[in-house]
Amino acid sequence: MSRQVDMFVIGAGPAGLCAALRLQQLGYRVMLIERSAVWPRAQIGEALTPGVKNIIAFLDANDAMEHVPHLTRLPTRLSWRSKTVETVAHADAAVVDRAAFDAALLQLAKARGIEVHQPAALDSITGGAGAWQLAFSTPGATHLVKARMILDAQGRQGKPAQQLLSAPRLSAMWVEIAENHIPADMAHVTQVEALAHGWLWGTRLPDRRYRVMLLSDPATSRQLHAGEPESWLRSQCAASTLFADVAQQQFSSSLQMCSATPYVALNSWQDGRIKLGDAAFALDPISSSGVEKAMRFSLQAALAVHTFCQADNPAQQTLAHEFYQQRLLETCARHHFWTTAYYRQAWCSEQPFWRSRSISSLASSSLASAASNPESRLMTDALQLEMDRLENYREPVLQAGPGIQGDQMIRFHPAVEIVPLPCAMADKVKLLPAMRHPHLERPLAFWENEAVLPRLEILSQQTRLASARDLLGQTMGLQKAQRLLTWLWQRGLLEVVSH
Ligand SMILES: Cc1cc2nc3c(=O)[nH]c(=O)nc-3n(C[C@H](O)[C@H](O)[C@H](O)COP(=O)(O)OP(=O)(O)OC[C@H]3O[C@@H](n4cnc5c(N)ncnc54)[C@H](O)[C@@H]3O)c2cc1C
Repeated sequence: MSRQVDMFVIGAGPAGLCAALRLQQLGYRVMLIERSAVWPRAQIGEALTPGVKNIIAFLDANDAMEHVPHLTRLPTRLSWRSKTVETVAHADAAVVDRAAFDAALLQLAKARGIEVHQPAALDSITGGAGAWQLAFSTPGATHLVKARMILDAQGRQGKPAQQLLSAPRLSAMWVEIAENHIPADMAHVTQVEALAHGWLWGTRLPDRRYRVMLLSDPATSRQLHAGEPESWLRSQCAASTLFADVAQQQFSSSLQMCSATPYVALNSWQDGRIKLGDAAFALDPISSSGVEKAMRFSLQAALAVHTFCQADNPAQQTLAHEFYQQRLLETCARHHFWTTAYYRQAWCSEQPFWRSRSISSLASSSLASAASNPESRLMTDALQLEMDRLENYREPVLQAGPGIQGDQMIRFHPAVEIVPLPCAMADKVKLLPAMRHPHLERPLAFWENEAVLPRLEILSQQTRLASARDLLGQTMGLQKAQRLLTWLWQRGLLEVVSH
């Protein structure tokens, strides 16, 4: 007999677990399967950006994560802009035991009543939108489940026909060094170094091993060290400043490799089958923000799913879908934009590896596939538009001077437009009015957590500054109202009307 759930989540990485926990909080019956029989299972992606902490707090998971082994305050020795080594403090970043991190979240999911099956192999998916049927096997049993929605959080997937590569191919290879062999000057630091053919990253792990990872173009390693990836890694360490001691070092693990090419999945929300985390997009690991972005996007997707399920008309369902799509595009385009700028800063930015990663257009293979595949073309155009918008945006020069006075007449600058924007409000996606202006990087619906419209609509007509401030002050306090008006004026979003 088949069971009925609302949400069926595939994969117990940070993305799947985050969505499962959030949707369970929102009142849905959630089932999750994880294929890994070894658990906790090893996983790369241990360097976590500070935002992960906020997400854990938001999920009310602080207590559950308390015992996850982690290291904080590891300074980074960086050789990037020049061959000179600089030391950078990263007070809020952490290196965690990823196996324990994911296991603690999974334990929490079980404790909160999410039905988890592990190890489980997905056998088939049939049915369609709103009425999916899934068959999966666990040791000695087969299961049939009906689900309203499927959340695919299977992680990095190698399905080229369903992906758009957002940058040239990148491969990662790594080894570990046992504690007693870690060179003394590396023992308590993270290290990142740009080299002509790629970059090296190394860090101490919470279990005291040291991991060294090389990111390079797979074609270059094949060309220069065909069939000998370890000798490629050692040669790159020998060519470096920070990792030179590693070149002859004894490794405690065999060499491991994986693709690290950034991509965006096509059709990631179709008929109530929704991709999350690395199943939806994979980022260049240079930012060490994959886990945070995967979790954040899962929270946004959960909100979209909730809005979709609660919608009482097709327009609300479309809005939920649009919100998901916009967050996906924005996350990928912003990351791509940041990454290209970071690659451009490297001392070796004229080398082919760096040049090809410093341009803000999409990988040439994606542009080629866009020509023949309509889905690919839609995504390519949308991503390129978002990237061009970021590329063309210039921070405004703030207006200086004494500012505007209480008795002056003010109104919106003529270039201010009011546009509808899908926004997260409490548990749902809502269409809110937002301000658009060339001096804003993107439409602004909230300022310091306050919805700015319709409150600011008084500025569509000329009004005395003091009156505008008093009116706004009724809902946000006078001081905040004054700061908001000054903020708008400094950016040229307000004009003074002269008589
Ligand atoms: C080389 C490299 C280095 C990186 N370094 C960092 C870093 O330092 N910091 C950082 O934040 N990010 C880093 N990342 C990115 C980070 O690893 C990912 O963004 C993150 O793990 C994504 O989480 P996820 O939940 O989407 O996928 P995953 O963590 O991959 O989890 C997917 C889960 O789904 C399970 N699964 C897969 N298929 C099935 C199936 N059919 N049925 C059931 N279960 C299934 C898998 O077993 C797995 O447990 C790195 C990535 C790479 C490639």
